[in-house]
Amino acid sequence: HAKEQGRNGFRFVTKEMGAKSRERMDLEGALRQAIREGELFLVYQPQVDTLTGRMVGLEALVRWRHPEEGLILPGRFLPVAEETGLVLAMGDWVLFEACAQIRRWRQRFDLSIPVAVNVSGAQFRDGQLPVKVARALDANGLSGCELEIEVTESTLIDDVESAAATLAALKQRGVLIALDDFGTGYSSLSYLHRLPIDKLKIDRSFIHDLSTGASDASVPRAIVGLGRSLGLSVIAEGVETQEQLQLLRDLACESYQGFLFSRPIPAEEIERLLETLTAVQPPMQPPVQPVS
Ligand code: C2E
Ligand code: MG
Ligand code: MG
Ligand code: MG
Repeated sequence: HAKEQGRNGFRFVTKEMGAKSRERMDLEGALRQAIREGELFLVYQPQVDTLTGRMVGLEALVRWRHPEEGLILPGRFLPVAEETGLVLAMGDWVLFEACAQIRRWRQRFDLSIPVAVNVSGAQFRDGQLPVKVARALDANGLSGCELEIEVTESTLIDDVESAAATLAALKQRGVLIALDDFGTGYSSLSYLHRLPIDKLKIDRSFIHDLSTGASDASVPRAIVGLGRSLGLSVIAEGVETQEQLQLLRDLACESYQGFLFSRPIPAEEIERLLETLTAVQPPMQPPVQPVS
């Protein structure tokens, strides 16, 4: 629907809609230019083992440094990118840049943790994704297991058959697959064990609920159990407090990401983190609590 409105909006222009579609067109043009002019960049958020505090992965997240408006977050430009199809060009850039960054890190650090890249529905359904992924890996001399692709449940269930084919092609190259924002979509247990998924990412809304007074761990607990019985790893998103981390340890959720450990940060800051990590062997903060 959104797509139709975007294309045909001019037919039903009210004052408000006119302003909206003008803003959208401005944003579309500016985003087109941003991709061309190199205004996009990636930040990376560490993924951490809940027990040892060791970094076990990174997630790449796109950012836009607009010449006049400054930093723009994906929440503002992704909807436009998706409606206009620009998300394909943006996604190509993200994929290649992430792989180039992995190569640069591999050359400097003796550390082989996967880097996750988010993929929108349109990119996933495009049919070209496995080829593009293979090209980005090859061009940077990477093996598939150095890259993880994050998709949401809704992306997969739109068309399970073609999703299965795309996932199979990615798996053939050894790429890891994570289900992002898990628990918010229309989870069907049947597709979960039919599709070659490696990891479930517990949506941060459930983690947020862990710290409220009516602390309810039932959904995270269920997802951890589901992961265990299906042989999938489970990571919690959006961990902000020590209390949430402790609850995740109690649930035996193996890893987490969130502001508690680090915000998404530029590649250079990840490098500083890696330098301390390789220099200092002991686990990083937050300190390890013995589990009973
Ligand atoms: P996501 O993949 O679920 O990413 C997690 C989002 O939660 C990120 O927002 C991250 O900055 C934020 N976050 C991480 N830790 C915490 C925390 O402790 N507390 C809170 N409140 N938030 C936290 P961001 O970077 O604004 O990205 C939003 C969404 O945009 C992403 O959600 C993802 O769906 C999409 N996205 C980001 N980068 C890309 C990209 O390169 N390609 C595509 N297709 N989508 C992307
Ligand atoms: Mg993600
Ligand atoms: Mg998520
Ligand atoms: Mg999300």
